[in-house]
Amino acid sequence: MFRKILIANRGEIAVRILRACRELGTRSVAVFSDVDRPALHVRLADEAYPIGPAPSRDSYLRIDKIIDAAKRAHCDAIHPGYGFLAENAAFARACADSGIVFIGPSPEAMESLGSKTSGRQLAQRAEVPTVPGTLEPIEKPDEAQIFAQGMGYPVLLKAVAGGGGKGMRLVSADSEFASAWRDASSEALNAFGDARLYLEKYLIHPRHIEIQILADAHGRVVSLGERECSVQRRHQKVIEEAPSPIVTPELRRKMSESAVRLARAGGYVNAGTVEFLVDANLDYYFLEVNARLQVEHPVTEQVTGLDLVKLQIAIAAGHRLPFAWEHITPRGHAMEVRLYAEDPDNNFFPSPGKILSRRMPTGPGIRMDDGVYPGWTVPNDYDPLLSKLVAWGNSREETIARLRRALDEFAVTGIKTNAGLFRRILTEPDFLRGEIHTRWLDELLSRPVCSADFDSGAEQAALIAAVLWHAAQNAAPAPQQAAASEWKLEGRRRLLDRNS
Ligand code: ADP
Repeated sequence: MFRKILIANRGEIAVRILRACRELGTRSVAVFSDVDRPALHVRLADEAYPIGPAPSRDSYLRIDKIIDAAKRAHCDAIHPGYGFLAENAAFARACADSGIVFIGPSPEAMESLGSKTSGRQLAQRAEVPTVPGTLEPIEKPDEAQIFAQGMGYPVLLKAVAGGGGKGMRLVSADSEFASAWRDASSEALNAFGDARLYLEKYLIHPRHIEIQILADAHGRVVSLGERECSVQRRHQKVIEEAPSPIVTPELRRKMSESAVRLARAGGYVNAGTVEFLVDANLDYYFLEVNARLQVEHPVTEQVTGLDLVKLQIAIAAGHRLPFAWEHITPRGHAMEVRLYAEDPDNNFFPSPGKILSRRMPTGPGIRMDDGVYPGWTVPNDYDPLLSKLVAWGNSREETIARLRRALDEFAVTGIKTNAGLFRRILTEPDFLRGEIHTRWLDELLSRPVCSADFDSGAEQAALIAAVLWHAAQNAAPAPQQAAASEWKLEGRRRLLDRNS
């Protein structure tokens, strides 16, 4: 096993990885940009090294600085987390060249699966169904338009280097093609330094269902089952669950076999995710491989009882996977919500700032993977993911009830969060029935809401009580009473904050 691991990341995922290191008895090394000096991952790591100014291109994306920190700290491995350099083959190569183990797939596997078009080509060779469209990037917009006409609208223009929903444009008619092409290619160039595009048939109301795989260096590839990630805002996942409400044992087996075949064809080693779109007939189509740990990995951990980060580390250290996938039976149901510092009243715009206070939900079946603490200022420079709140229960119903209860316990002051969005989704009849698709949330959010959608009648009553209570306190201060009620008052303040 490794002696010391550098974590080339920040936020909740850096904390998640260093917790695994701590449990394994491996020393952990954090890196941090100037603005992250007081961040939680820096505080919790055994050692920490500065790597430059706040912009990620000057710090978390600087291969040279990260390798240098790893050498100075005498690390024998680097875990990249997700995002930043996690799927950068040059980084994996730089690690190998420095005699440091990269905890992830080989650079060659990353390259053969990394771009969307090379992944599609590999999928076709491995006889995995892909979304209809082009297998190669298309150079000229005229050629692409002829292809789109042949395939029939709607089509989706997608960036070859795509990720995070960037460089993607829906085209519903010939007249929209030229401007959509311009927008998609310039967005792709900005985001990835690569303007190349390709085309996919736009599937109407599909579900996003993905298979978690693990592959060791000795030829064993296992599927840990699926995650349903259809609740998305603008193509970005916000809620994930396992198992999927619609996946039958037969479909799970078929999708798993496809995912394992693809991983083998790509010479894949370590943890990875094979993403699919699934239509109303339960036909599935390969979308892409994410050659890294996913944000939503905890739901798989909760239903399988496995620790994916420790398994990633063990695989990178050359250990064999101690189980076959036929032996894995998911138990119960898990669901994750991504809590962001975002302003729901301002189109979910990032809402960084100082966290003044926070109450963490606990109790049966609740897990919180987080990277923040009260008194810390959420910086403007990065993705504003604060925490992932995960619930586990014996059934989907129990899991949703626990998640709702936990969201009611969760409170933060100083910044705005998207917690209210989840309170709303978790009471929507379609969601409760599991009748969701990738456009479901965007369609829900485009409908007008009244505030009652967010707050139950009991909460409204509590709010009124809290307002009256505040008025009484201001009129006649009663120190003894106030002290006795401080704990309750905190909860009521939360209601006030939420409703203000
Ligand atoms: P990215 O890597 O940029 O996140 P993906 O290819 O993983 O892009 O797709 C993200 C989401 O975009 C999917 O989960 C789905 O909601 C939507 N999407 C992508 N391709 C299609 C398609 N061909 N038809 C319909 N929706 C799609």
